Amino acid sequence: MSEAPILKDTTRSTGREALQKNIQAAMALAEAIRSTLGPKGLDKLLIDDEGRTLVTNDGVTVLETAKVEHPVAKMMINTSSTQDRIAKDGTTSTVILAGEMLQNAWQLILQGIHPSTIARGYRKSEQYLLQCISEIKFDSDDKMKSSVVKTSLAGKGHSSMQETIAKVSLDAVQMVADIDSTIDISKIKLVSQTGGKVEDSKVFRGLMIPKKRISSDMHREVNRGKIILIDGGLEKSNVATDLKLNVTTVGVLESFRQEERNMLKRQVDNLVEHGVTVLACRESIDDEIKNYLSENGIQAFRRVSRSDLNMLARVCDATLVNSVDSLTSNDLGSFIVSKNTTIEGKDFWIVEGDGKAATIIAKASTVDVVGEVERCFDDSLGVSVQLVENGSVVCGGGASYVALARRLRRYAETIPGREQLAVEAYADAIEVIVRVLAENAGIDPITTLLDVVAKQTNTNSDYIGIDLSTGAPSDMVKLGILEPEGIVKQAIIGATEVAISILRIDDVLWAKQEMQMPDMPDDEM
Ligand code: ADP
Ligand code: MG
Repeated sequence: MSEAPILKDTTRSTGREALQKNIQAAMALAEAIRSTLGPKGLDKLLIDDEGRTLVTNDGVTVLETAKVEHPVAKMMINTSSTQDRIAKDGTTSTVILAGEMLQNAWQLILQGIHPSTIARGYRKSEQYLLQCISEIKFDSDDKMKSSVVKTSLAGKGHSSMQETIAKVSLDAVQMVADIDSTIDISKIKLVSQTGGKVEDSKVFRGLMIPKKRISSDMHREVNRGKIILIDGGLEKSNVATDLKLNVTTVGVLESFRQEERNMLKRQVDNLVEHGVTVLACRESIDDEIKNYLSENGIQAFRRVSRSDLNMLARVCDATLVNSVDSLTSNDLGSFIVSKNTTIEGKDFWIVEGDGKAATIIAKASTVDVVGEVERCFDDSLGVSVQLVENGSVVCGGGASYVALARRLRRYAETIPGREQLAVEAYADAIEVIVRVLAENAGIDPITTLLDVVAKQTNTNSDYIGIDLSTGAPSDMVKLGILEPEGIVKQAIIGATEVAISILRIDDVLWAKQEMQMPDMPDDEM
């Protein structure tokens, strides 16, 4: 029988061959980031095609920056990106878990077990574990919350830097949290400054914009009033667009200018009529109007960035207008305080409104580390949001995965048929986290895992994980190595999802040319 036209110009691999190639690709990807896991994980130096370099230890950054061709590897990267979006952390763990699940699945396939049986067993395991998590989680107090954020910064920077970033992030998130604990992270502004230590980073209530009012004659501080946000300027050119002027008589030019000034003044009069006391423009404000503004008690700022204007709009519940002429009173916002201040010699305009906001001034010693400090704040803010929204936490250092694997093995005994083997394979797979954490710290992975399992069983504790500084199985609650429940939950969901999707593919049609396989060690399979 001839092949259908749709299959022309394609290379096809089917059945076991397709599966083997796909699993190899997924494992190669997991292998590539394995060495970055945990506080003792090493960094990767990434160089792009223009020679720019980036040193990072963040799984998702490595994967998203790498040029990966293989579609299955791309599926793994998408899982890691989803983990980053939903849980803000656990990106490396998710990929390592999925790689291990697939490796174990391959061993079962070699024993003649059908991939769909494995997929069913994996799905059952996932569903069971999602129930079990409620048995190992607990509510966190403030000290624990700070530990959780510090754990999420593991491997990034030194301990006093982690301490500051954790404290500042949690404070910022608490400042913008609504009564029902919902948080809009866009209400937190991060301003980074070079010079100074990260430990000097601080959070301030309200929105801080590195600007000074346009004239020192204007009030330094205004309380409770109306604010207008103009997505443009207050300039003469605005009124004189498309105007061609033939100057024939002396004095005509001067009277024209006078008329322009009057138009600007009329715009300010309009603001005064609407009760406006603070004005912010994205473009310029004419110098000639400065005095008139301050005489009328208006505090004004020019060249405010669009993103700052948008934040101001949220904080003050205002709408950006294109010009004063199109202003209606609904467009105006209200503020509690609008004041000018200097912090360490730099000018700041601080605005507090009914909409909550917080500004973090992040300090970095040099330009090179600004990016890394910003990434740390991004991560810890993400984790802080999760924690303030839902304070449930679980133990890190592999403890939770071992506790879950122990439960899963007991559950496996209740499952008849070949699916039982898949559930056991899944239990083995999730223990990979402890093994890799140990491996990266130069500690024997197998012995470590067995010791952690034994101590959990003997002390009947779900909190025993690996203390990487001593290599001994220890109580993670006492050491403060804690993670939000959501990270582990999402890692299990994401890893299972991608592993099952890959197991279900038994036919790969390559258009025109064979894709390149990522490099992997020869002895892997
Ligand atoms: P991911 O991208 O998966 O978050 P990380 O490199 O951030 O990867 O490592 C997270 C893992 O490191 C988690 O399993 C966490 O419990 C563990 N971890 C963090 N700090 C410690 C520590 N001090 N001791 C043991 N394990 C730790
Ligand atoms: Mg992490």
